[in-house]
Amino acid sequence: MTPRPLLPILVAAALAAGGQAPARTTLIRHALLIDGSGAPPRRADVRIAGDRIAAVGQLAPGPGDVVVDADGLALAPGFIDTHSHHDRGLEAAPDALAMVSQGVTTIVAGQDGGGADLASLFARLERQPAAVNVASYAGHGAIRERVMGDDFKRHATAAELERMKALVKTEMDAGALGLSTGLEYDPGIYSAPEEVVALAKVAAGAGGRYASHIRSEDRSFWEALDEAIAIGRATRMPVQISHLKLGMHDLWGQADKVIGLLDRARASGVQVTADIYPYTYWQSNLGVLYPKRNYADAVETAFVLEHVALAQDIIFTRFRGHPDYTGKTLADVARLRGTNAAKTLMDLLAEPDGDSAGIVAKGMDEADVERLIRWPYANVCSDGQSSGLHPRGFGAFTKVLGPYVRDRKLFALEEAVRKMSSLAAANTGLARRGLVAPDSFADLVLFDPAVVADRADFGNAQAPSIGIHTVWVNGQVVFKDGRTTGAHPGRPLRREAAQKNR
Ligand SMILES: [Zn+2]
Repeated sequence: MTPRPLLPILVAAALAAGGQAPARTTLIRHALLIDGSGAPPRRADVRIAGDRIAAVGQLAPGPGDVVVDADGLALAPGFIDTHSHHDRGLEAAPDALAMVSQGVTTIVAGQDGGGADLASLFARLERQPAAVNVASYAGHGAIRERVMGDDFKRHATAAELERMKALVKTEMDAGALGLSTGLEYDPGIYSAPEEVVALAKVAAGAGGRYASHIRSEDRSFWEALDEAIAIGRATRMPVQISHLKLGMHDLWGQADKVIGLLDRARASGVQVTADIYPYTYWQSNLGVLYPKRNYADAVETAFVLEHVALAQDIIFTRFRGHPDYTGKTLADVARLRGTNAAKTLMDLLAEPDGDSAGIVAKGMDEADVERLIRWPYANVCSDGQSSGLHPRGFGAFTKVLGPYVRDRKLFALEEAVRKMSSLAAANTGLARRGLVAPDSFADLVLFDPAVVADRADFGNAQAPSIGIHTVWVNGQVVFKDGRTTGAHPGRPLRREAAQKNR
């Protein structure tokens, strides 16, 4: 006689008693394991117990195993998006479709100088979890704004700097990964380099790291890169260049020079790395085109439209007062207004909120993107969000796996996975994520390498990717067969040292 399986009875008893169900195990069999280390794919089985990976190898099903037949599909660590703005929509849409549908299981927020009040953010994520894990930097800009308010178009005083340092310390204690800056944006652009170094030292003293949207991605790119590297040298902490790019026509073709510079910095002892997204269009606001904010300057305007972004390559994503401009290029809008692009640009910037109008613009060359993304210390990021016109929010990772790797063979599949997992974890300081190995957290993605691809484009930026079969976060399935499951096992990920102090 076959004994009745005991497990359902135990589960029912435990639930009836108000307790939690006993931990179950899941056995994923017959996977093509791409473990995140960069090692070649191999046939393996993976057992999940609770929120961890319990075993990897040739495993036989045991009692209590829920068996998933991977049927030869690729099993990889869940992808880590090291530069993400998806946190903005997570409270309203905790299923995190944009992320999990491309295999992302962890996002790193607080980017470009924006992270603030992480104690509240992390507490909220514990009360109302999302499908994905969330780590965050402390943001220089947010801290600067809190201290200096509207009076930010100047260097900070010594007293203001002391208050900023205290706030960085508070955020580091709350679990920030380090300090992020957005030195091309208000209010960070008005900071003296000494201010940034002083604040970075506080983050370094707490065991943190530095991530920077550098002071210029176009006109003063080389100086801006030097500033970021100098911060690494002064603080001895790792430096992540955010969304690395050559963002000006005059800079195109110089990817090898960038890589040479970064490699020399590494050889001299600065642990500099980068993240990058696979698109030639960036997304920002209209004001960022003018580092001196001299919007009425005709010479500067002519320079912008000849060197930084062409009128037909600037697309409006959001303009208060002109909702009808959404999706139109600056060239389109100039035609509508019956004038030229330069006058249109200056007129729009003279309007209230004109400088904060959202745009996507073609600023990069595809050959540079492909060269930079191949740098062994560059990991993949999206820089994306769940709404808007830029397809990177739904397609960055799958665009690399499909078009870049399978179709154009820029690098091996295992290298792509490494750039999305263990390298991403290393470049942000996340522990026990990014590898399929015993005792790692069970963040996993099962996908079909022959099919996986992005579907989002500028015409339909929220089109989910194809080829992602199942996604686990902390051992629970959050995405399967094209749908989110409604499970929200994501956690706030505090910096390791801060966790120990809790
Ligand atoms: Zn940025």
